[in-house]
Amino acid sequence: MSDIPFTKEMKKDYTILLPNMSPIHFDLMIEAARLNGYKALLLDNSGPQVIQEGLKYVHNDMCYPALIVIGQMIDYIKSGKVDANKCAVGITQTGGGCRASNYYYLLKKALERAGYPQIPVISLNLKGMNTNPGLAITPTLIFQLLSGLIYGDLLMTLSHQVRPYEINKGDTDAVVKKWSDYLKNCYRNNKGYFWSHMDKNLASISDDFANIPVNREEKHVKVGVVGEIYMKYAPVGNNNLEKFLENEGCEVMMPPFLGFILYGISNGIRDYEFYGGFKRHMYHAFATKILMPVLKKFEKKIDKAIKRHEEFIAPASIDELEELGKLVINTGCKMGEGWLLTAEMIELIKKGYGNIVCTQPFGCLPNHIVAKGMVRPIKELYPESNIVPIDYDPSATKVNQENRIKLMLAVARENLEN
Ligand code: SF4
Repeated sequence: MSDIPFTKEMKKDYTILLPNMSPIHFDLMIEAARLNGYKALLLDNSGPQVIQEGLKYVHNDMCYPALIVIGQMIDYIKSGKVDANKCAVGITQTGGGCRASNYYYLLKKALERAGYPQIPVISLNLKGMNTNPGLAITPTLIFQLLSGLIYGDLLMTLSHQVRPYEINKGDTDAVVKKWSDYLKNCYRNNKGYFWSHMDKNLASISDDFANIPVNREEKHVKVGVVGEIYMKYAPVGNNNLEKFLENEGCEVMMPPFLGFILYGISNGIRDYEFYGGFKRHMYHAFATKILMPVLKKFEKKIDKAIKRHEEFIAPASIDELEELGKLVINTGCKMGEGWLLTAEMIELIKKGYGNIVCTQPFGCLPNHIVAKGMVRPIKELYPESNIVPIDYDPSATKVNQENRIKLMLAVARENLEN
């Protein structure tokens, strides 16, 4: 495999194609990247041709998210909308034991096979793997990206809790748009992510959602969505699951993105405690212990903003989730979404969202274990829970997936009426 670096010179005029995992979050985070001089572009192409391109260049027993993301990139490059000699592609690399560590190499190989060996592949990671001279992950950039993630979490959480009850259809979407536009403009002007700006903005966002006229007498089935991170959030991966559930009259709760980031980072401590390692692992664990309290401050900001209004439900903190997870799973279980996914299911049940859709991609053994594999122990603890794992793979049809969810919703509606 060729190794084409992304150089400092390329930064000026190369377009970096990035997969869009969650539109509400990534639309903001991309502005933070642009503020730092990267010509970043989020991909929104979808359809059967994306899957076909993925199947052509990625082995079909690889995880489904890899297949979609790589298919989406190659489909976009082939469409001619971007100059193949003036573009790079970016992909996350976790560096853990999961297959996401290898997406980077899969993408390189796929590009080469598709006839684009000249395209540099940028690994997006915090572990110093496969560095590129043109990419500088500075503390400021990390802070800006985190702020985008937090705004995204708040907009997503509150819009889910208001949209089904709004009296005037479209009010919630208007608030989401108003704030997305405002925040994007802030980033363009190098504002909005400072500590005090965030407090002010988060409080105002919460107030704006609370001011939307609603009828909370209406009864809606409450559905929690958990799963592998890409399948849970990406509409292109889960066939617009969130929209489908809302069209079925449900109130959706999706655990925040920040929880996954905190889970991933805090695993540095668990790795060393459970498995030991070399000096570098010890230093990593030590650095993580220092970093975690800072990151938890972001979590507290969302919590504070949501709790300004008693009708809103705030997500559990990473510490609370860890305790919930320990009821049924060991926290040493940390491949894929690991114990976090199990803990999120318990949290959702405790908060009244016991009807749960668990998005499971093909090829994802870790999440089959911590999701489908944990349904039974969770049901023993919470018999009222109503969990349905849904498989996503290239041959699964949307109709089949929706029918399975409709069966779960039929039980949920019966429970609601009783
Ligand atoms: S969590 Fe699952 S889908 Fe994601 S990289 Fe790991 S095995 Fe693949």
